[in-house]
Amino acid sequence: MKFYQLSREQRLDALKASGDLDTQSYELMLKNQPIPAEIAANMVENQITQYALPEGVVQDVLINGTCYQIPLVTEEPSVIAAANNSAKLVRQWGGFQVTAKRGGLIGQIVFDHVSDIETKAQLLKTKADEIQAIAASAYPSILKRGGGLRQQKVTIVGQDFLKLELLVDTKAAMGANMVNSICEAVAQAASQWLQQPPLLAILSNHALEDLTTVTLKLPVTALTRGHLSGQTVAQRIVAATEFAQLDINRAVTHNKGIMNGAIGVVQGYGNDTRAISAGIHSYAAQSGQYQPLSQWRLVDTDLIGQLTLPLPIGAVGGSIGIVPLAKANQQLGQATDPLIMQAQIATIGLASNLAALRALVTEGIQKGHMHLQYKALAIQAGATGSEIDWLQNALSQQPIVNLAIARQLLVEKSKTEKSATHDHRN
Ligand code: NDP
Repeated sequence: MKFYQLSREQRLDALKASGDLDTQSYELMLKNQPIPAEIAANMVENQITQYALPEGVVQDVLINGTCYQIPLVTEEPSVIAAANNSAKLVRQWGGFQVTAKRGGLIGQIVFDHVSDIETKAQLLKTKADEIQAIAASAYPSILKRGGGLRQQKVTIVGQDFLKLELLVDTKAAMGANMVNSICEAVAQAASQWLQQPPLLAILSNHALEDLTTVTLKLPVTALTRGHLSGQTVAQRIVAATEFAQLDINRAVTHNKGIMNGAIGVVQGYGNDTRAISAGIHSYAAQSGQYQPLSQWRLVDTDLIGQLTLPLPIGAVGGSIGIVPLAKANQQLGQATDPLIMQAQIATIGLASNLAALRALVTEGIQKGHMHLQYKALAIQAGATGSEIDWLQNALSQQPIVNLAIARQLLVEKSKTEKSATHDHRN
């Protein structure tokens, strides 16, 4: 049987048997328990319950020659199937190639309505050594880990905003709290030097120091769909991307297809999806026109796809150390190093993009997508057990599908079954 045809328990057994899940992670996933009550109660304010999402696995994703099982958390049917589909295709042609860097997070300390602004900018520049020392004493443990303040930059913004930016090497943490602590300590000292309070002091989620680029290369022959040649499919993928470069309505949806996969992996690794999403969209808009994040080119008989994302990911810190599944997912994904997480997130983003574009320029997005969505509709209509698969297939045969039709099919099925039982008894 194929992996997707197994039961949840059998899938976990298979991952354990292959050595991808250790006993601790296996048992945790098998028990399927929520976050321990005490932890959940202390994670957020006014906590009343826990909101669960399904997690699946993208199997055998070949990145820089290493094969990974990548956890993906999402509420949307078809996302995991699509990413698996692309991962399998790309694996046959050499896999994904990734380069990832980790340069640190920027913190901003901003003063407004600054008079004599040039002089004050110069003054801040003369304080570089003191700023370095304040940063070190604000967060001494990061120095012990080999990180800390790396660069300082003073800029005048507009007429009267003065900005001091600090680039902090946060090592294996995402570093938001770390950078905020450093910024607030430096801001306090700077306010004395400038004789005015700061307007704000906080990290920036525009994370250009942590860019991660993934590339794939497929012979066009691998893209053939029905009566469409692989060459035509590849040309249409390139054309769809060119259109997205010119049209924001399309660019945003092009990028949503990338985020389907990328953000699901960010979530699986217990990272801050809002921070990563904000950073990715600011990167897409940095030219002044919101752009598609991936590029697709046809070079001779190969389709080449490339995606760059800013990914200030943490392997420690935040909720990662306290949410048991985040740790188990690191084990499953062999991802305790943020650079590996960055590589996986970008890769699943590109894999999702390939699947979406390929479907879009051939049979359309609805055919494959809706078949999987019908499962949710079947459950909504009241189907249980084997009725779910039956109703999913029955809905796929319908010219028009909606909840009323799903309910009607279910009622008809039940009537037919009752009358069959009745006939049998008679
Ligand atoms: P933490 O505040 O949890 O700090 C990182 C922790 O990881 C520290 O306690 C550090 O220990 C520990 N650690 C262990 N090993 C390492 C290592 N090798 N390298 C670095 N740190 C290590 O998390 P962050 O500062 O990363 O902040 C992330 C959180 O901030 C997320 O939850 C995010 O949601 C939130 N946040 C995001 C904002 C934004 O994006 N705009 C704004 C505010 C908060 P030690 O102290 O001993 O060094």
